[in-house]
Amino acid sequence: MDVIQQLTEWKKQHSGKELYCVIGDPIKQSKSPLMLNEAFKASSVDAIYAAFHVTPEQLSPFMEAARELGVAGMNVTIPHKLHVMDLIDEIHPDARALGAVNTVVNCKGKLIGYNTDGIGYVRSLKEEAIANIKDKQVVVVGAGGAARGIIYALLKEKPSAVHIVNRTREKAEELVISFESSVPLYAADQDQLQKLCEQADIVINTTSVGMFPHIDETPVQGEWLKIGAVASDLIYNPLKTRFLQDAEQYGGIAHGGLGMFIYQGAFAFEYWTGKQAPTKQMREIVLNALQS
Ligand code: NAP
Repeated sequence: MDVIQQLTEWKKQHSGKELYCVIGDPIKQSKSPLMLNEAFKASSVDAIYAAFHVTPEQLSPFMEAARELGVAGMNVTIPHKLHVMDLIDEIHPDARALGAVNTVVNCKGKLIGYNTDGIGYVRSLKEEAIANIKDKQVVVVGAGGAARGIIYALLKEKPSAVHIVNRTREKAEELVISFESSVPLYAADQDQLQKLCEQADIVINTTSVGMFPHIDETPVQGEWLKIGAVASDLIYNPLKTRFLQDAEQYGGIAHGGLGMFIYQGAFAFEYWTGKQAPTKQMREIVLNALQS
């Protein structure tokens, strides 16, 4: 059965319910169905959420079918965050500025695109590690898609400066040029990383260095951080990377990537339902799944 038929069947099976889904390629490992179905249950929303494996060639017909079948909302993941923008009706200015949509809301037949990755990260950082980012010095290691989203959201918090250090320096420079902000934003060389970390209030790893199975690797030495500085990692497998473990050992505050995942989903839930997301239950169910 192809993915359009799967969607049509799924709609038949759950007629009367609001339908939500995540699309991506690959999608098998996604914890979004687990998390969002729990959120609907905990909030007594009569809705169901599923994952669909949609290849780039299937994206356009899938979006058309989703529109016809009245799918109420979607999460969009790699590799569709950019191309889905051509297939919806309206794009929130922040998602437009970022050039990526990860959440679609069906508003009375009109498909509206948002990006909740960066704001999800910042909400998690503020709730779990540091309440106020204003006037703080930030170092971001890495300059990929995730870095782009979180830097965009961080700049709105008015830190004193943001330094981007990336293996490929040109990509850090491209990011610096692409943002318009009154906050000083710099691209720096790898050999400046230690000095920048020693001065920073928040150091964020947005690279995949340290991710399972390479759990002994770290992009930053924990001892480089000031006592009380925040060490933040977007990785959540493992839940506490080598970088975070080392930083904690030297008096840093560890902030893992699970919160970003939870809160990007929480914002999507809130856009779809207008209700506050049950983040405690969402975190619990994902944490249990990751630990089992
Ligand atoms: P991406 O666009 O492919 O970017 C990867 C970045 O990591 C690039 O800056 C790349 O540097 C750098 N990098 C990769 N391998 C490296 C190495 N061995 N040494 C130094 N730098 C290296 O990926 P992404 O989408 O931004 O994702 C990055 C990380 O964030 C992943 O670990 C992902 O799991 C995590 N993430 C987490 C969440 C969440 O919800 N918590 C959401 C999104 C992403 P070059 O430019 O030099 O190649």
